[in-house]
Amino acid sequence: MVLLLAVGFKAVTTRRLQAILERRSTLDPLTQVLNRRGFADIYAKEHALMRRESTAMTMLSIDLDYFKKINDCYGHATGDRVLVDVAQVIGKALRVSDHVARFGGEEFIVLLPVTGVDWARDIAERILVAVREPGRGDLPAYTVSIGIACQTSSDEDLDAILMRADEALYRAKERGRDCIEIASTPMPPLQAIKA
Ligand code: GH3
Ligand code: MG
Ligand code: MG
Repeated sequence: MVLLLAVGFKAVTTRRLQAILERRSTLDPLTQVLNRRGFADIYAKEHALMRRESTAMTMLSIDLDYFKKINDCYGHATGDRVLVDVAQVIGKALRVSDHVARFGGEEFIVLLPVTGVDWARDIAERILVAVREPGRGDLPAYTVSIGIACQTSSDEDLDAILMRADEALYRAKERGRDCIEIASTPMPPLQAIKA
């Protein structure tokens, strides 16, 4: 009996440990948002749902402006705290059904399921305004730029939608930063137009 209990206890703790390790492998250790791997898993699920329900979803590519200067002026540790801060600010602007990931460095990706470009723009503006707000401890002031790309066809894959969001982000940087740019939606295939 004691042996059975011991074996059962070990099985439960091993399963718990596995679950913890599995979860950790999908999170960014600094900011505790999803990492690339965790995001790819979530995207696959949302993409399948989108295909089934024929809905749209929108991606935000968010990059800190002049982040190198923050590191240079205030040190790498403060830079790290800014990264944690921006992850929190982004998270607060989102709904529970939305997803945020850190794609390395100072770039974050947000996935807004069942969301068109107008609502996505509102969320992006909310993030811009919240980031600009002063008075979060002793952190230096900073801003972000945001590229928006809406996925209306399930034929598009993760790489393609990320590329469009990044192109829009690049335009926001060129326009002077601390602003939002929206990617144009790709033309549907000719067959779809005729139908
Ligand atoms: P831009 O407005 O064009 O985006 O300029 P930027 O300075 O933000 O971009 P750049 O790519 O020149 O520099 C990014 C910096 O981010 C350089 C790198 O040292 C820093 N960085 C990347 N990962 C981390 C990190 O985990 N912690 C800290 N503190 N800094 C990081
Ligand atoms: Mg940057
Ligand atoms: Mg960058």
